[in-house]
Amino acid sequence: MSQSDHVKKKIAALIGTALGLTATSALAGTYTVLRTDRLIAEPGESEPSPATILLAGNKIADVRIGQVSDDVLEGEGHTLAASYDLTGHTVLPGLIDGHVHITFEGNPMQRLQMVQFDSADMAMKGAGFARKTLMAGFTTVRDVGADSDAVFALRAGVARGDVVGPRILSSGDTVSITGGHGDRSQGYSNDVAHVLTSPSICNGADDCRRAVREQIRRGADHIKIMATGGVLSNTLTGTEQQFTSEEMEAIVDAARKMGRDVTAHAHGKTGIEAALNAGVRTIEHGTYLDDTTVRAFKKNDAFLVPTPLAGATVAGWAEDPNTFLTSAQRVKAARVGPLMQAMGTRAYKAGVKIAFGTDSGVSRHGDNAKEFALMVATGMSPAETIRAATVIGSENIRMQDQIGTIEAGKLADIIAVKGDPLEDVTLLENSIAFVMKDGKVFKNE
Ligand SMILES: [Zn+2]
Repeated sequence: MSQSDHVKKKIAALIGTALGLTATSALAGTYTVLRTDRLIAEPGESEPSPATILLAGNKIADVRIGQVSDDVLEGEGHTLAASYDLTGHTVLPGLIDGHVHITFEGNPMQRLQMVQFDSADMAMKGAGFARKTLMAGFTTVRDVGADSDAVFALRAGVARGDVVGPRILSSGDTVSITGGHGDRSQGYSNDVAHVLTSPSICNGADDCRRAVREQIRRGADHIKIMATGGVLSNTLTGTEQQFTSEEMEAIVDAARKMGRDVTAHAHGKTGIEAALNAGVRTIEHGTYLDDTTVRAFKKNDAFLVPTPLAGATVAGWAEDPNTFLTSAQRVKAARVGPLMQAMGTRAYKAGVKIAFGTDSGVSRHGDNAKEFALMVATGMSPAETIRAATVIGSENIRMQDQIGTIEAGKLADIIAVKGDPLEDVTLLENSIAFVMKDGKVFKNE
Protein backbone atom coordinates (compact mmCIF):
# COMPACT_ATOMS: atom_id res chain seq x y z
CA MET A 1 0.00 0.00 0.00
CA SER A 2 1.43 3.39 -0.97
CA GLN A 3 1.70 6.33 1.40
CA SER A 4 -1.25 8.09 -0.25
CA ASP A 5 -3.38 4.94 0.04
CA HIS A 6 -2.64 4.89 3.78
CA VAL A 7 -3.77 8.50 4.03
CA LYS A 8 -6.96 7.77 2.06
CA LYS A 9 -7.75 4.79 4.30
CA LYS A 10 -7.21 6.84 7.40
CA ILE A 11 -9.51 9.60 6.13
CA ALA A 12 -12.17 7.00 5.25
CA ALA A 13 -11.91 5.51 8.76
CA LEU A 14 -12.21 8.97 10.32
CA ILE A 15 -15.32 9.73 8.26
CA GLY A 16 -16.79 6.36 9.29
CA THR A 17 -16.07 7.11 12.95
CA ALA A 18 -17.61 10.58 12.65
CA LEU A 19 -20.78 8.97 11.26
CA GLY A 20 -20.80 6.43 14.07
CA LEU A 21 -20.06 3.52 11.72
CA THR A 22 -17.61 0.68 12.09
CA ALA A 23 -15.12 -0.03 9.33
CA THR A 24 -17.14 -2.93 7.83
CA SER A 25 -20.52 -1.22 7.97
CA ALA A 26 -19.37 2.07 6.46
CA LEU A 27 -20.85 1.00 3.11
CA ALA A 28 -23.63 -1.19 4.50
CA GLY A 29 -26.91 -0.82 2.71
CA THR A 30 -30.05 -2.56 1.56
CA TYR A 31 -29.50 -4.30 -1.75
CA THR A 32 -31.22 -6.48 -4.29
CA VAL A 33 -28.74 -9.12 -5.44
CA LEU A 34 -28.37 -10.78 -8.84
CA ARG A 35 -25.96 -13.68 -9.28
CA THR A 36 -24.88 -15.26 -12.53
CA ASP A 37 -22.12 -17.46 -13.89
CA ARG A 38 -22.04 -15.38 -17.10
CA LEU A 39 -22.14 -11.61 -16.85
CA ILE A 40 -21.25 -9.59 -19.94
CA ALA A 41 -20.95 -6.18 -18.31
CA GLU A 42 -19.80 -4.38 -21.46
CA PRO A 43 -20.85 -6.30 -24.59
CA GLY A 44 -18.13 -6.47 -27.22
CA GLU A 45 -15.46 -5.68 -24.65
CA SER A 46 -15.75 -7.85 -21.53
CA GLU A 47 -15.56 -11.65 -21.46
CA PRO A 48 -18.43 -13.48 -19.72
CA SER A 49 -17.61 -14.05 -16.05
CA PRO A 50 -19.32 -15.13 -12.83
CA ALA A 51 -20.58 -12.06 -11.01
CA THR A 52 -22.70 -10.70 -8.20
CA ILE A 53 -24.57 -7.47 -8.90
CA LEU A 54 -25.80 -5.32 -6.04
CA LEU A 55 -28.69 -2.97 -6.76
CA ALA A 56 -29.90 -0.09 -4.62
CA GLY A 57 -33.24 1.35 -5.68
CA ASN A 58 -33.18 1.83 -9.45
CA LYS A 59 -29.37 1.93 -9.70
CA ILE A 60 -26.52 -0.52 -9.91
CA ALA A 61 -24.53 -0.06 -6.69
CA ASP A 62 -21.71 -2.57 -7.15
CA VAL A 63 -20.59 -5.32 -9.52
CA ARG A 64 -18.34 -7.98 -8.01
CA ILE A 65 -16.41 -10.68 -9.77
CA GLY A 66 -17.54 -14.17 -8.70
CA GLN A 67 -20.62 -15.36 -6.93
CA VAL A 68 -20.65 -13.82 -3.46
CA SER A 69 -23.06 -15.60 -1.09
CA ASP A 70 -25.85 -14.00 0.94
CA ASP A 71 -23.96 -15.00 4.10
CA VAL A 72 -20.87 -13.11 3.04
CA LEU A 73 -22.88 -10.03 2.08
CA GLU A 74 -24.85 -10.11 5.33
CA GLY A 75 -21.58 -10.61 7.18
CA GLU A 76 -20.48 -7.31 5.69
CA GLY A 77 -23.49 -5.72 7.37
CA HIS A 78 -25.74 -5.46 4.32
CA THR A 79 -29.47 -6.11 4.33
CA LEU A 80 -30.69 -8.10 1.32
CA ALA A 81 -34.08 -7.06 -0.03
CA ALA A 82 -34.24 -9.85 -2.61
CA SER A 83 -31.87 -12.11 -4.46
CA TYR A 84 -32.13 -13.66 -7.91
CA ASP A 85 -30.16 -16.68 -9.04
CA LEU A 86 -29.45 -16.36 -12.76
CA THR A 87 -27.00 -19.25 -12.97
CA GLY A 88 -27.17 -20.88 -16.42
CA HIS A 89 -28.11 -17.54 -17.94
CA THR A 90 -26.11 -14.86 -19.69
CA VAL A 91 -26.73 -11.52 -18.03
CA LEU A 92 -26.60 -8.45 -20.27
CA PRO A 93 -27.44 -4.77 -20.10
CA GLY A 94 -31.05 -4.07 -21.14
CA LEU A 95 -31.30 -3.90 -24.93
CA ILE A 96 -31.86 -0.62 -26.77
CA ASP A 97 -33.81 -0.42 -30.04
CA GLY A 98 -32.93 2.85 -31.74
CA HIS A 99 -35.72 2.76 -34.33
CA VAL A 100 -39.30 1.78 -33.52
CA HIS A 101 -42.82 3.00 -34.21
CA ILE A 102 -44.41 1.90 -30.96
CA THR A 103 -48.00 3.02 -31.62
CA PHE A 104 -48.71 1.02 -34.77
CA GLU A 105 -47.91 -2.18 -36.62
CA GLY A 106 -48.11 -2.92 -40.37
CA ASN A 107 -51.30 -4.79 -41.23
CA PRO A 108 -53.83 -5.08 -44.07
CA MET A 109 -56.18 -2.60 -42.36
CA GLN A 110 -53.62 0.13 -41.79
CA ARG A 111 -54.82 2.59 -44.42
CA LEU A 112 -58.35 2.34 -43.04
CA GLN A 113 -57.11 2.62 -39.47
CA MET A 114 -55.49 5.96 -40.36
CA VAL A 115 -59.00 7.42 -40.49
CA GLN A 116 -60.60 5.19 -37.86
CA PHE A 117 -58.12 5.57 -35.00
CA ASP A 118 -57.68 8.77 -33.07
CA SER A 119 -54.70 9.51 -30.84
CA ALA A 120 -56.20 7.74 -27.84
CA ASP A 121 -56.74 4.57 -29.87
CA MET A 122 -53.15 4.65 -31.04
CA ALA A 123 -51.89 5.18 -27.49
CA MET A 124 -53.89 2.10 -26.42
CA LYS A 125 -52.45 0.06 -29.29
CA GLY A 126 -49.04 1.34 -28.25
CA ALA A 127 -49.54 0.13 -24.68
CA GLY A 128 -49.90 -3.42 -25.97
CA PHE A 129 -46.87 -3.10 -28.23
CA ALA A 130 -44.81 -1.54 -25.43
CA ARG A 131 -45.45 -4.53 -23.17
CA LYS A 132 -44.34 -6.99 -25.87
CA THR A 133 -41.20 -4.95 -26.50
CA LEU A 134 -40.18 -4.89 -22.84
CA MET A 135 -40.84 -8.62 -22.41
CA ALA A 136 -38.51 -9.22 -25.38
CA GLY A 137 -35.67 -7.67 -23.37
CA PHE A 138 -35.73 -4.15 -24.83
CA THR A 139 -35.67 -1.76 -21.89
CA THR A 140 -35.22 1.44 -23.92
CA VAL A 141 -36.59 2.37 -27.34
CA ARG A 142 -36.28 5.42 -29.51
CA ASP A 143 -39.51 6.07 -31.36
CA VAL A 144 -38.84 7.84 -34.64
CA GLY A 145 -42.29 8.56 -35.97
CA ALA A 146 -45.75 8.36 -34.44
CA ASP A 147 -48.83 10.46 -33.80
CA SER A 148 -47.39 13.00 -31.33
CA ASP A 149 -50.30 13.00 -28.86
CA ALA A 150 -50.41 9.19 -28.79
CA VAL A 151 -46.72 8.54 -28.31
CA PHE A 152 -46.08 11.34 -25.83
CA ALA A 153 -49.00 10.10 -23.70
CA LEU A 154 -47.63 6.56 -23.89
CA ARG A 155 -44.13 7.75 -22.96
CA ALA A 156 -45.55 9.54 -19.91
CA GLY A 157 -47.73 6.55 -18.96
CA VAL A 158 -44.73 4.23 -18.98
CA ALA A 159 -42.63 6.72 -17.00
CA ARG A 160 -45.38 6.98 -14.35
CA GLY A 161 -45.69 3.22 -14.14
CA ASP A 162 -49.27 3.15 -15.44
CA VAL A 163 -48.21 1.14 -18.50
CA VAL A 164 -45.71 -1.72 -18.72
CA GLY A 165 -43.16 -0.88 -21.38
CA PRO A 166 -39.63 0.17 -22.20
CA ARG A 167 -38.32 3.65 -21.48
CA ILE A 168 -39.44 5.64 -24.52
CA LEU A 169 -37.67 8.51 -26.24
CA SER A 170 -39.77 9.99 -28.98
CA SER A 171 -39.77 12.44 -31.86
CA GLY A 172 -43.56 12.44 -32.18
CA ASP A 173 -44.61 13.19 -35.75
CA THR A 174 -41.85 13.19 -38.34
CA VAL A 175 -40.81 16.43 -40.00
CA SER A 176 -41.34 16.10 -43.74
CA ILE A 177 -42.22 18.09 -46.85
CA THR A 178 -45.73 18.18 -48.29
CA GLY A 179 -46.17 14.99 -50.32
CA GLY A 180 -42.94 13.61 -48.84
CA HIS A 181 -42.33 10.32 -47.08
CA GLY A 182 -43.69 11.62 -43.77
CA ASP A 183 -46.86 13.12 -45.21
CA ARG A 184 -49.36 10.47 -44.19
CA SER A 185 -52.21 12.04 -46.15
CA GLN A 186 -50.99 10.61 -49.47
CA GLY A 187 -53.49 8.71 -51.53
CA TYR A 188 -56.58 9.85 -49.59
CA SER A 189 -59.25 12.14 -50.97
CA ASN A 190 -58.47 15.85 -50.60
CA ASP A 191 -61.00 16.28 -47.78
CA VAL A 192 -59.43 13.50 -45.77
CA ALA A 193 -55.90 14.60 -46.64
CA HIS A 194 -56.51 17.97 -44.98
CA VAL A 195 -57.53 16.23 -41.78
CA LEU A 196 -54.53 13.90 -41.83
CA THR A 197 -51.93 16.61 -42.42
CA SER A 198 -49.71 17.20 -39.41
CA PRO A 199 -48.19 20.52 -38.22
CA SER A 200 -44.83 18.81 -38.65
CA ILE A 201 -45.15 19.04 -42.45
CA CYS A 202 -43.11 22.02 -43.63
CA ASN A 203 -41.83 23.70 -46.78
CA GLY A 204 -38.98 26.22 -46.92
CA ALA A 205 -36.28 26.87 -44.33
CA ASP A 206 -38.32 29.21 -42.10
CA ASP A 207 -41.36 26.97 -42.09
CA CYS A 208 -39.16 24.00 -41.21
CA ARG A 209 -37.71 25.90 -38.24
CA ARG A 210 -41.32 26.41 -37.13
CA ALA A 211 -42.07 22.71 -37.49
CA VAL A 212 -39.01 21.77 -35.40
CA ARG A 213 -39.89 24.26 -32.69
CA GLU A 214 -43.48 23.05 -32.64
CA GLN A 215 -42.41 19.43 -32.22
CA ILE A 216 -40.11 20.44 -29.35
CA ARG A 217 -42.90 22.43 -27.72
CA ARG A 218 -45.17 19.41 -27.96
CA GLY A 219 -42.52 17.26 -26.25
CA ALA A 220 -40.08 15.80 -28.80
CA ASP A 221 -36.91 14.26 -27.34
CA HIS A 222 -35.30 14.42 -30.78
CA ILE A 223 -36.31 15.48 -34.28
CA LYS A 224 -36.88 12.89 -37.00
CA ILE A 225 -36.79 14.11 -40.58
CA MET A 226 -37.61 12.37 -43.81
CA ALA A 227 -34.54 13.36 -45.82
CA THR A 228 -35.47 11.10 -48.74
CA GLY A 229 -38.44 9.23 -50.12
CA GLY A 230 -39.31 5.96 -48.43
CA VAL A 231 -40.83 2.57 -49.09
CA LEU A 232 -44.17 2.69 -47.28
CA SER A 233 -45.41 6.13 -48.34
CA ASN A 234 -48.13 5.71 -50.94
CA THR A 235 -46.46 7.59 -53.75
CA LEU A 236 -44.05 6.91 -56.58
CA THR A 237 -41.61 9.71 -55.82
CA GLY A 238 -38.44 7.66 -55.52
CA THR A 239 -36.08 7.28 -52.59
CA GLU A 240 -33.69 10.17 -53.21
CA GLN A 241 -33.37 13.55 -51.47
CA GLN A 242 -36.68 15.34 -50.69
CA PHE A 243 -35.87 18.22 -48.33
CA THR A 244 -33.57 20.82 -49.85
CA SER A 245 -30.15 21.11 -48.22
CA GLU A 246 -31.15 24.59 -47.04
CA GLU A 247 -34.23 23.16 -45.29
CA MET A 248 -32.17 20.45 -43.59
CA GLU A 249 -29.56 22.95 -42.41
CA ALA A 250 -32.35 25.10 -40.92
CA ILE A 251 -33.84 22.04 -39.18
CA VAL A 252 -30.55 20.97 -37.62
CA ASP A 253 -29.77 24.54 -36.55
CA ALA A 254 -33.20 25.06 -34.98
CA ALA A 255 -33.02 21.71 -33.20
CA ARG A 256 -29.49 22.28 -31.89
CA LYS A 257 -30.41 25.67 -30.52
CA MET A 258 -32.99 23.93 -28.36
CA GLY A 259 -30.76 21.02 -27.36
CA ARG A 260 -32.18 18.36 -29.66
CA ASP A 261 -30.46 15.96 -32.05
CA VAL A 262 -31.80 15.29 -35.52
CA THR A 263 -32.03 11.84 -37.02
CA ALA A 264 -32.75 11.38 -40.70
CA HIS A 265 -34.60 8.69 -42.57
CA ALA A 266 -32.51 8.36 -45.75
CA HIS A 267 -32.22 5.70 -48.44
CA GLY A 268 -30.76 7.50 -51.48
CA LYS A 269 -27.14 8.60 -51.56
CA THR A 270 -27.99 12.25 -52.33
CA GLY A 271 -30.22 12.48 -49.26
CA ILE A 272 -27.80 10.66 -46.94
CA GLU A 273 -24.99 13.03 -47.89
CA ALA A 274 -27.14 16.18 -47.70
CA ALA A 275 -28.42 15.15 -44.26
CA LEU A 276 -24.91 14.39 -42.98
CA ASN A 277 -23.60 17.66 -44.41
CA ALA A 278 -26.44 19.48 -42.62
CA GLY A 279 -25.23 17.95 -39.36
CA VAL A 280 -27.69 15.19 -38.43
CA ARG A 281 -26.42 12.82 -35.73
CA THR A 282 -27.92 9.62 -37.15
CA ILE A 283 -28.94 8.15 -40.49
CA GLU A 284 -31.77 5.62 -40.44
CA HIS A 285 -31.65 2.89 -43.15
CA GLY A 286 -28.81 4.25 -45.34
CA THR A 287 -29.65 1.82 -48.14
CA TYR A 288 -27.57 3.29 -50.97
CA LEU A 289 -24.51 4.32 -48.96
CA ASP A 290 -21.17 4.08 -50.77
CA ASP A 291 -17.54 5.11 -50.25
CA THR A 292 -18.34 8.84 -50.46
CA THR A 293 -21.18 8.57 -47.95
CA VAL A 294 -18.99 6.50 -45.64
CA ARG A 295 -16.47 9.36 -45.64
CA ALA A 296 -19.27 11.78 -44.72
CA PHE A 297 -20.34 9.48 -41.85
CA LYS A 298 -16.80 9.46 -40.50
CA LYS A 299 -16.23 13.19 -40.95
CA ASN A 300 -19.40 13.88 -38.93
CA ASP A 301 -18.84 11.04 -36.44
CA ALA A 302 -22.43 10.06 -37.29
CA PHE A 303 -24.30 6.86 -36.45
CA LEU A 304 -26.02 4.49 -38.85
CA VAL A 305 -29.12 2.55 -37.82
CA PRO A 306 -29.27 0.05 -40.68
CA THR A 307 -32.67 -1.61 -39.96
CA PRO A 308 -32.06 -4.89 -41.85
CA LEU A 309 -35.22 -6.34 -40.26
CA ALA A 310 -37.28 -3.66 -42.02
CA GLY A 311 -35.60 -4.55 -45.32
CA ALA A 312 -36.36 -8.25 -44.88
CA THR A 313 -39.95 -7.52 -43.82
CA VAL A 314 -40.87 -5.27 -46.76
CA ALA A 315 -39.06 -7.56 -49.23
CA GLY A 316 -41.28 -10.40 -47.95
CA TRP A 317 -44.43 -8.29 -48.34
CA ALA A 318 -43.44 -7.36 -51.90
CA GLU A 319 -43.10 -11.04 -52.84
CA ASP A 320 -46.44 -12.01 -51.32
CA PRO A 321 -49.02 -12.42 -54.15
CA ASN A 322 -51.77 -11.36 -51.71
CA THR A 323 -49.80 -8.42 -50.34
CA PHE A 324 -51.68 -5.59 -48.66
CA LEU A 325 -49.16 -3.05 -50.03
CA THR A 326 -50.46 -0.50 -52.53
CA SER A 327 -48.88 -0.72 -55.98
CA ALA A 328 -46.59 2.26 -55.26
CA GLN A 329 -45.45 0.72 -51.96
CA ARG A 330 -44.87 -2.64 -53.59
CA VAL A 331 -42.64 -1.28 -56.33
CA LYS A 332 -40.39 0.45 -53.80
CA ALA A 333 -40.43 -2.48 -51.34
CA ALA A 334 -39.29 -4.87 -54.06
CA ARG A 335 -36.46 -2.54 -55.07
CA VAL A 336 -35.18 -1.28 -51.70
CA GLY A 337 -35.90 -4.17 -49.30
CA PRO A 338 -33.45 -6.69 -50.74
CA LEU A 339 -30.60 -4.11 -50.85
CA MET A 340 -30.46 -3.48 -47.12
CA GLN A 341 -28.58 -6.63 -46.15
CA ALA A 342 -25.68 -5.89 -48.55
CA MET A 343 -25.64 -2.26 -47.38
CA GLY A 344 -25.16 -3.53 -43.81
CA THR A 345 -22.10 -5.46 -44.93
CA ARG A 346 -20.64 -2.40 -46.72
CA ALA A 347 -21.20 -0.19 -43.68
CA TYR A 348 -19.73 -2.71 -41.26
CA LYS A 349 -16.64 -3.38 -43.39
CA ALA A 350 -16.08 0.35 -43.79
CA GLY A 351 -16.14 0.87 -40.02
CA VAL A 352 -19.27 3.06 -39.77
CA LYS A 353 -20.64 3.33 -36.21
CA ILE A 354 -23.66 1.03 -36.23
CA ALA A 355 -26.46 1.28 -33.67
CA PHE A 356 -29.16 -1.39 -33.46
CA GLY A 357 -32.62 -0.39 -34.71
CA THR A 358 -35.37 -2.52 -36.17
CA ASP A 359 -38.13 -0.27 -37.51
CA SER A 360 -40.55 -2.38 -35.43
CA GLY A 361 -44.02 -1.28 -36.40
CA VAL A 362 -43.02 -2.36 -39.91
CA SER A 363 -41.97 -5.73 -38.43
CA ARG A 364 -43.92 -6.97 -35.41
CA HIS A 365 -43.35 -5.49 -31.97
CA GLY A 366 -41.70 -8.03 -29.70
CA ASP A 367 -39.81 -9.56 -32.64
CA ASN A 368 -37.09 -6.90 -32.35
CA ALA A 369 -34.36 -9.45 -31.58
CA LYS A 370 -34.77 -11.08 -34.99
CA GLU A 371 -32.48 -8.33 -36.18
CA PHE A 372 -29.45 -9.82 -34.39
CA ALA A 373 -29.19 -12.76 -36.80
CA LEU A 374 -29.57 -10.43 -39.78
CA MET A 375 -26.73 -8.28 -38.44
CA VAL A 376 -24.56 -11.36 -37.93
CA ALA A 377 -25.25 -12.21 -41.58
CA THR A 378 -23.69 -8.86 -42.56
CA GLY A 379 -20.41 -10.00 -41.01
CA MET A 380 -20.70 -8.71 -37.45
CA SER A 381 -19.90 -11.07 -34.59
CA PRO A 382 -22.72 -11.82 -32.11
CA ALA A 383 -20.84 -9.78 -29.50
CA GLU A 384 -20.65 -6.81 -31.89
CA THR A 385 -24.37 -6.96 -32.60
CA ILE A 386 -25.13 -6.98 -28.86
CA ARG A 387 -22.73 -4.05 -28.45
CA ALA A 388 -24.72 -2.20 -31.15
CA ALA A 389 -27.88 -2.75 -29.07
CA THR A 390 -26.29 -1.65 -25.78
CA VAL A 391 -23.08 0.40 -25.73
CA ILE A 392 -23.38 2.00 -29.18
CA GLY A 393 -27.16 2.22 -28.88
CA SER A 394 -26.79 4.27 -25.69
CA GLU A 395 -24.26 6.60 -27.36
CA ASN A 396 -26.57 7.15 -30.33
CA ILE A 397 -29.28 8.48 -27.98
CA ARG A 398 -26.80 10.19 -25.61
CA MET A 399 -27.70 7.99 -22.64
CA GLN A 400 -24.29 6.35 -22.25
CA ASP A 401 -23.92 7.73 -18.71
CA GLN A 402 -27.12 5.97 -17.63
CA ILE A 403 -27.56 2.76 -19.64
CA GLY A 404 -25.74 0.45 -22.09
CA THR A 405 -23.39 -1.34 -19.66
CA ILE A 406 -23.71 -2.99 -16.27
CA GLU A 407 -21.58 -0.88 -13.95
CA ALA A 408 -21.94 0.95 -10.66
CA GLY A 409 -23.88 4.18 -10.94
CA LYS A 410 -25.93 3.23 -14.00
CA LEU A 411 -29.65 2.50 -14.07
CA ALA A 412 -30.57 -1.10 -13.23
CA ASP A 413 -31.64 -2.16 -16.75
CA ILE A 414 -30.62 -5.80 -16.79
CA ILE A 415 -31.75 -8.84 -18.75
CA ALA A 416 -30.87 -12.53 -18.71
CA VAL A 417 -31.02 -14.99 -21.58
CA LYS A 418 -31.00 -18.76 -21.10
CA GLY A 419 -27.78 -20.13 -22.58
CA ASP A 420 -25.05 -18.37 -24.50
CA PRO A 421 -26.06 -15.78 -27.14
CA LEU A 422 -22.42 -15.40 -28.20
CA GLU A 423 -22.68 -19.00 -29.48
CA ASP A 424 -26.22 -18.65 -30.84
CA VAL A 425 -27.46 -15.09 -31.20
CA THR A 426 -31.01 -16.29 -31.99
CA LEU A 427 -31.40 -17.20 -28.30
CA LEU A 428 -32.15 -13.49 -27.87
CA GLU A 429 -35.32 -14.04 -29.94
CA ASN A 430 -36.98 -16.57 -27.67
CA SER A 431 -34.98 -17.22 -24.50
CA ILE A 432 -35.17 -13.96 -22.58
CA ALA A 433 -35.94 -15.21 -19.08
CA PHE A 434 -35.44 -12.12 -16.94
CA VAL A 435 -36.12 -8.46 -17.53
CA MET A 436 -35.41 -5.67 -15.09
CA LYS A 437 -35.94 -2.03 -15.98
CA ASP A 438 -35.08 0.83 -13.69
CA GLY A 439 -34.57 -1.62 -10.80
CA LYS A 440 -37.99 -3.23 -11.19
CA VAL A 441 -38.43 -6.87 -12.29
CA PHE A 442 -40.95 -7.29 -15.12
CA LYS A 443 -40.14 -10.87 -16.15
CA ASN A 444 -38.61 -13.74 -14.19
CA GLU A 445 -39.17 -17.19 -15.68
ZN1 LIG B 1 -39.17 3.80 -39.44
